[in-house]
Amino acid sequence: MTYSLAIHGGAGVIPRDAMDADGERDHNAALARILEEAEAVLRDGGDAMEAVTVAVCALEDEPLFNAGHGAVYTAAGRLEMDAAVMDGVGRRAGAVAGICGPRNPILAARAVMERTGHVLMVGEGALEIARDAGLTFEDPSYFRTEQRWQALKETLRMMEDGTLDDDPSRRHGTVGAVARDRAGHLAAATSTGGMTAKRPGRVGDSPIPGAGTFADDATCAISATGDGEAFIRWAAAHEIDARMRLAGRSCAEAAHGVVMTDLAQNGGSGGLIAVDRDGRISLPFNCEGMYRGWAMEDGPRGTAIYGPVEDPAPATGT
Ligand code: ASP
Repeated sequence: MTYSLAIHGGAGVIPRDAMDADGERDHNAALARILEEAEAVLRDGGDAMEAVTVAVCALEDEPLFNAGHGAVYTAAGRLEMDAAVMDGVGRRAGAVAGICGPRNPILAARAVMERTGHVLMVGEGALEIARDAGLTFEDPSYFRTEQRWQALKETLRMMEDGTLDDDPSRRHGTVGAVARDRAGHLAAATSTGGMTAKRPGRVGDSPIPGAGTFADDATCAISATGDGEAFIRWAAAHEIDARMRLAGRSCAEAAHGVVMTDLAQNGGSGGLIAVDRDGRISLPFNCEGMYRGWAMEDGPRGTAIYGPVEDPAPATGT
């Protein structure tokens, strides 16, 4: 079997008419660098869970994307981050919500999966697991970027004036990765600061298995980005799994159907990355763009920001 890997830096892309050549180059270069870092894990025989963890740590460390360093602010000017990992082997999962402290929230999610019998943890209990796991903690100043702070100020002003538009770059973003390793195992990881000016205590789809994150070796691994409330209500990732399991749909059919129809028609602007048990990758989004990258062993690889919405051709010999 060959490996497959996809990553995303969120559907909260800078609108095409506001993106300059340097910005486009920087985003694509960051995606390519992180893709290569995570691909090296799979190339060297590492497993899918390790590859998605490495990818999401690197995406969290990269301030261009809304997670970890570069996370967006709540309406109260604080940082509340959500993250989840899910393992296709036995649907093991770990997640944290509303936390600020661990440098890499995805490692806190993984610690929940590996060190507790629980799935989703919040508050002091979540931080305690991260501390017990020996994770690096940072002050809030580490996560701060001027761009996200300005986005909060602008969003709050627009909310007050009643002029709030739906510019995705100011409001959204998330990072994630999905992989199939050479043993055929799947894994998914997702991490986010959430939505700019969200109410304190709001939790999105990213840390919820079956909404923004999902993996089962029998079907697919998924990491989503977009209007979290719609992804939760439409159980987006689970819906794709269910269509594959119960209705015999391919991953591509199910993923495109959920994103382009169910979510698009119900306020669920955004997209997702998926890899199926055969290593095929789907990258549907129903908005202007989604920062994304993909790599298949001996197959296609690349990065993209805007449309067209196109899946990489399946690798042969999977
Ligand atoms: N899905 C994320 C959330 O709702 C945000 C995003 O991906 O844009 O928290």
